[in-house]
Amino acid sequence: RLEIRNLVRRFDGQPVVDDVSLSIAPGQVTCLLGPSGCGKSTTLRMIAGVDLQDSGTIHVDGKLICDTVFRVPPERRAIGLMFQDFALFPHLSVGENVAFGLKGSDKRGTAKRLLDRVGLAHFIDHFPHHLSGGEQQRVALARALAPRPKIMLMDEPFSGLDNRLRDGIRDETLDLLKEEGAAVLLVTHEPEEAMRMADEIALMRAGRIVQQGAPYNIYNSPADKGAMAFFSDIN
Ligand code: ATP
Ligand code: MG
Repeated sequence: RLEIRNLVRRFDGQPVVDDVSLSIAPGQVTCLLGPSGCGKSTTLRMIAGVDLQDSGTIHVDGKLICDTVFRVPPERRAIGLMFQDFALFPHLSVGENVAFGLKGSDKRGTAKRLLDRVGLAHFIDHFPHHLSGGEQQRVALARALAPRPKIMLMDEPFSGLDNRLRDGIRDETLDLLKEEGAAVLLVTHEPEEAMRMADEIALMRAGRIVQQGAPYNIYNSPADKGAMAFFSDIN
């Protein structure tokens, strides 16, 4: 379980993330949904450990990962990351990409199992540039899942894909994440994506979470005009 409490991050004295709290259970997908610049990526960076909050705490399974004095380094947080610009290593094969950073003897076996799950085992010895954008995305997903992270952070992971590919990959990703039982925090600025993927939506605006709940509830009773406007372009 991922728990963040009262996270605050200021840049030049201005709060960009302003008292954000979230709790995500294993197997649950929470979507952080909000307009550009509202502080979504900054929130994820603090959880990943590549940025440090000004105040607030982060716990994983009840254990403190980070407060303002204590900090577990990013590589020891058991957190998987999948970002839009998180490219594959071009000089490594698909299998080596997935196995990258794994320890132990059967790295290739693990890579093969995961590639099999995303339907790409036959590409294990190919190089990334032989694959389509959608296939590369699926390899990136396999790579993110390889260390069996308890927490998965995804920042607009599907935004580089065309519409035709996107729906299929969203569904596959969701199935795989549920199966692995990770607690997932998915950032998007597309309400439709949040409606499709989330168990819970946290609506964020100007650094704050303005409404949180099941997608259907938020869609049907937005807390205010801003939230309503945000959903008005889905039908
Ligand atoms: P988008 O949907 O466009 O990715 P976002 O919600 O992810 O937006 P953030 O990247 O978290 O937004 O940025 C929130 C605000 O914080 C922005 O106004 C941004 O300019 C500012 N910001 C982010 N990082 C820094 C930094 N290192 N120094 C100063 N300002 C920053
Ligand atoms: Mg962002």
